[in-house]
Amino acid sequence: MALMRVAVIGAGLTGLTCASRLMRAGMDVRVFDKGRGLGGRLASRRLENGLRFDHGATYVETDDPAFLRTLEFVCARGAGTKTVWASGEAKYVGLPGMSSLVRPLAEGLPVTRRAQVTAIEWVQGEWRIFFESDTVQEQVDLVILTVPAPQAAQLAAAYPSLTSALDAVDFDPCWALMAAFDGATAHAGGDAALPESLTKLSVESDKPGRSSGASCLVAHASPEWSRAHLEEDLQTVADLLLSEVRRACTGASATPSYLSAHRWRYARTSTSLARPYLTSPDGRLFVGGDWCLGNSAEHAHASGTAMANAVLEAFSLRRRAS
Ligand SMILES: Cc1cc2nc3c(=O)[nH]c(=O)nc-3n(C[C@H](O)[C@H](O)[C@H](O)COP(=O)(O)OP(=O)(O)OC[C@H]3O[C@@H](n4cnc5c(N)ncnc54)[C@H](O)[C@@H]3O)c2cc1C
Repeated sequence: MALMRVAVIGAGLTGLTCASRLMRAGMDVRVFDKGRGLGGRLASRRLENGLRFDHGATYVETDDPAFLRTLEFVCARGAGTKTVWASGEAKYVGLPGMSSLVRPLAEGLPVTRRAQVTAIEWVQGEWRIFFESDTVQEQVDLVILTVPAPQAAQLAAAYPSLTSALDAVDFDPCWALMAAFDGATAHAGGDAALPESLTKLSVESDKPGRSSGASCLVAHASPEWSRAHLEEDLQTVADLLLSEVRRACTGASATPSYLSAHRWRYARTSTSLARPYLTSPDGRLFVGGDWCLGNSAEHAHASGTAMANAVLEAFSLRRRAS
């Protein structure tokens, strides 16, 4: 296949699923992400003392055969593991952290991190990609945006048909608390026992492959709580969320050895697009993400796969016509 230059913006599960498939089909693919690491909302924070927190998705579960195949591939590469819970449900976690789940997909792909895309412009028959640093300008034939819909709408502003569809997608925010306690921390019960302010309380150190002398907790605030405290500073939110955690978790009364919060402004889709991706009328721009189909990793995988298939189909049609 003749080389087609493709830029994938976003190195989360959608972007890397799409990019790896296109690379394997022979396209010249490059990936850009504004973050320091890979994985997007499949996120892990590792402290210098070795403590780890998965402050985005806690685990991944699916019954989509294609995503299951990808997860089995990831596990075979040592980057994840399957755990069957007491309820009988199979859940996958990344090893050593959730962000590792995407690492096998990124193998062989040129991924530029800390590269925040500020604009894309079609100039003289190709895309120019502009970055916050102002130092790089990439030139490609096709751009695939895999960032949350509100951020995609800013980059796709030249296409009103795309922005009106993107504006209909909605997200809930989520404040996540990360707290470490020396010694063991008992979990007071399942998610059903949580106060209304919290949707999840995860004892990170109980997850496979996370051994340390401390108990690490991650708590997710509810959409309502997160929205009410959206613009507050990290320390205030961390202190407030810790008091909420103490209502649910008996072992969290001690002073934490580490305490921090992370704000996910676009955490979980509340209104999805209800189709796997968008494309501009001229076919030069694709836009996708979990928000196309739902609010979970399996939706990100499905969107990334559907976009890659559509690009390959369009490209082979163009080749046959030429
Ligand atoms: C708190 C929380 C809990 C969750 N729990 C679960 C769960 O239990 N199970 C589950 O299946 N899913 C869960 N999810 C959802 C899951 O994490 C997402 O569905 C999935 O990771 C989305 O992948 P994505 O690639 O579509 O988007 P993202 O992971 O958001 O990737 C988008 C990427 O684009 C990058 N980016 C954004 N703007 C720019 C720019 N201008 N330039 C360059 N790069 C840019 C970002 O840095 C990011 O890496 C949770 C999410 C959160 C936040």
